[in-house]
Amino acid sequence: MIIIMEPKATEAQCQKVIDLLKENGFDIRYKKGEIYTVIDAIGDKTTLTPDRLSALEGVKEVKIIREPFRIASRDRKPEDTVIEFSNGVKIGGDNKPVMMVGPCSIEDYEGLLEVAKAAKEMGCQFLRGGAFKPRTSPYDFQGYGEDALKYIRKAADETGLLTVSEVMDASDLDMMCDYIDVLQIGARNVQNFKLLHAVGKCNKPVILKRGLSSTIREFLLAAEHILYNGNPNVILCERGIRSFDSAFTRNVMDIAAIPVIKKLSHLPIIIDPSHGTGQRYLIEPMAKAGLIVGADGVMIEVHQNPEKALSDGKQSLPIPMFKEIMGRLNQLSGRLHYEKTQLSANVE
Ligand code: PEP
Ligand code: MN
Repeated sequence: MIIIMEPKATEAQCQKVIDLLKENGFDIRYKKGEIYTVIDAIGDKTTLTPDRLSALEGVKEVKIIREPFRIASRDRKPEDTVIEFSNGVKIGGDNKPVMMVGPCSIEDYEGLLEVAKAAKEMGCQFLRGGAFKPRTSPYDFQGYGEDALKYIRKAADETGLLTVSEVMDASDLDMMCDYIDVLQIGARNVQNFKLLHAVGKCNKPVILKRGLSSTIREFLLAAEHILYNGNPNVILCERGIRSFDSAFTRNVMDIAAIPVIKKLSHLPIIIDPSHGTGQRYLIEPMAKAGLIVGADGVMIEVHQNPEKALSDGKQSLPIPMFKEIMGRLNQLSGRLHYEKTQLSANVE
């Protein structure tokens, strides 16, 4: 980190900062300029935090040079993380983007099976659906719990898909792991650190949704909590962030976050245009945008009868519309994948 002293900082104040850094094992170099004294310090920020330094008298600013997420960082691991499932499906790296579709909440088995069959027919790999729903209002449908998980497992096994479902409470984890291939941490729980630690100790891959107002740094630090606790299989998900204008879209999709995160981190990242926009007509363009900028997958809400859906019906695609859109997304992802693999083959 770099510590910039106030122009009026005294010799004694500068020395105090230097001594403290040295005591904490930092390697330092400093330059006394005409106006500012600048101290360049290399060492372990856990022993002496930037916050502690900022609190010292005479310190103007502490700049962090290396990003605070260590395990998630590309500096630490330059090659992409690829997550492989027992049926051979892979997420990340040069693999073709995966498709995860299904209802917001798991309702009746027959309806879910209809969606699962359409998903399989269209080449999707994952069936998603919530059994525990984090609803803004306690009066809204909260999910059918374990019964719903039984349905999603059965529908996925019958069609040859993998399952994705959200975990809201660490005490449900053991039970959920019997039914679920990928655990989802929802946007509202992105900074529920105990839950992040619990899934970090789990041996299932985790989809971590971006929080309603997470910065990219906070988002990657949330992933770091999972990685630090031992689970290397984290899939990030850009699902839009809250903005001042929700008149036409539920959230604002941060498309640039995808290449930014690809630059900063080796973790795979998918896009969820359903929650990102809240509008059926925006799902196709935003899914395409995500694929073009390098998303490793797309998550879309699909319901057999959106008008009757118990949650997020407005943004859920009916099956015929889903099939049409999926056909075009498959074409695009096939083309992009061809270009990407040709390109890397030429480089080698
Ligand atoms: C969901 O995937 O159904 C969901 C609740 O998403 P988010 O946490 O992104 O709002
Ligand atoms: Mn939903």
